[in-house]
Amino acid sequence: MADLDVVVVGAGFAGIYAVHALRSAGLTVRAFEAGSGIGGTWFWNCYPGARCDVESKDYSYSFSPELEQEWSWSERYPAQPEVLRYLNHVAGRFGLWPYIQLNTRVTAAEWDGERSEWTVTTDDGASRTARFCVMAVGCLSAYQVPSLPGLETFAGPWYHTSRWPREGVDFTGQRVGLIGTGSTGIQVAPEIAAAAAHLYVFQRTANFAVPNRNRAVDPSWEREFKADYRSYRKQAQESFLGVPITGTGRPALAEPPADIQRNLMERWRAGGGMPFLGAYTDVLVDRAANDIVAEFMRDRIRETVSDAAVAELLCPTAYPVGAKRLCQSDDYFAMFNLPNVTLVDIRSAPVSSVYAGGLRTADSVYELDALVFATGFDAISGALNRIGIRGVGGVPLTEKWAAGPRSYLGMAAAGFPNMFIVTGPGSPSVFSNMVLSIEQHVEWIRDCVAYLGSHGYSTVEAKPSAEDAWMAHVTEVAYSTLFPLADSWYVGANIPGKPRVFTPYLGGVGPYRARCDEVAAAGYEGFVLD
Ligand code: NAP
Repeated sequence: MADLDVVVVGAGFAGIYAVHALRSAGLTVRAFEAGSGIGGTWFWNCYPGARCDVESKDYSYSFSPELEQEWSWSERYPAQPEVLRYLNHVAGRFGLWPYIQLNTRVTAAEWDGERSEWTVTTDDGASRTARFCVMAVGCLSAYQVPSLPGLETFAGPWYHTSRWPREGVDFTGQRVGLIGTGSTGIQVAPEIAAAAAHLYVFQRTANFAVPNRNRAVDPSWEREFKADYRSYRKQAQESFLGVPITGTGRPALAEPPADIQRNLMERWRAGGGMPFLGAYTDVLVDRAANDIVAEFMRDRIRETVSDAAVAELLCPTAYPVGAKRLCQSDDYFAMFNLPNVTLVDIRSAPVSSVYAGGLRTADSVYELDALVFATGFDAISGALNRIGIRGVGGVPLTEKWAAGPRSYLGMAAAGFPNMFIVTGPGSPSVFSNMVLSIEQHVEWIRDCVAYLGSHGYSTVEAKPSAEDAWMAHVTEVAYSTLFPLADSWYVGANIPGKPRVFTPYLGGVGPYRARCDEVAAAGYEGFVLD
């Protein structure tokens, strides 16, 4: 008999809830977490300025009506320390600590077909067997540092934002180089600029950013909001993004230009990416409509940044707005008006090498005391590929995914029985309110395991035909939008050599949930139960 019913890999939002939900269903569960604390992405990404770009009222668990009433968020967009406090509160409140083993990285998981169980090995040399494996490793956990020639010769310290020293970093008086201008770079840059003698921002691709308009949560608004939290959560579950937003419901191309500008400006002033991009129905599917919104955003950069040449360099033109994750910031563009900040275009003059005293580009040399990489992640599949996962016949997951990650419903991979992936490739995951999508997956997995038990089955495995059909659908939906036009981490373009496959499911959180529920109601259609 297996040591455990379920091993959960990771203790971020997904792993924490998986432990709670599966234990509440009467299963024996153990979670392994590589970090010295829980929180996953919110544990590791403790760089200054780290803040969620989904509002706190949405980016929080909905499974417990008591929890959502008890907890009070201090800000509209929660900063990383507050999200981490929240998760620690949840683990304590629901008595989860005894079932979470910290400082323990899962290094291998192998399926034993004879015994119908997984053997999970950890970096302390121990192994456990479990009937089920729930991979709650996060979509953005496998960070990447570019292989720059000479990096090992750099005399100063260098940091990746996703492995920021927990004690913090004092940049006072230093010349700092920042590589990476995605969501993370845009958040960390103003914080570094506030301390450093000089900040050089090395930009390869300019990015769009909308204001947060972050503010303290008003207690009377909170009371009013919480009075109807349940029905709000229901709306969120049925919505497209996992956050109820009010768009105009009309295409931009059918709207008089002056009305579009007025409407976009209202949303710009209110702050937040989802309501802004969701203003019109055609922005993410029609290039002409997209161009209108993109130009509106470029105009905001031009009116914020006083040096016209710098402003033009900051204006994104390489991809449709929204096709890469839209960044959010209240102070990034204005930062370039500071005398101690320089924007360096490494698209036209790429970084050629690092030397002891700094960084060389094709046309210049920059003397630096410290280097910061905000260069992103091997997203969605990276963390799973780094575990030695072997399924039926000992086939490695890396081999199955050699041409790109794939799964049925974004939760189960053919050839890997009794292994579930929370927010895996082919699910709304990063294109949704992650917390809500995590809850949906965990509850579906819990119910599936319970169904197997009550119907006398011991294994569940996705059929290859169901996986093929689902991934074809994921691709078809993606290619009906503008998303594939960007070289984004959504398609793996940020990782040299990674196959270009669009893996997030863009069909909408509500319809996706309905499909998953239909599959379950039909006795787990598309799966082999044994
Ligand atoms: P990212 O979006 O992948 O951005 C990485 C940045 O590094 C890009 O500017 C990229 O340039 C640059 N880069 C990568 N390799 C490079 C190289 N070899 N040379 C020069 N530049 C290089 O990563 P991220 O900013 O960490 O964000 C990842 C995701 O995490 C976000 O999209 C978002 O979903 C999430 N996130 C959310 C928040 C939030 O909630 N507010 C905050 C941070 C992150 P190119 O564009 O040219 O590739």
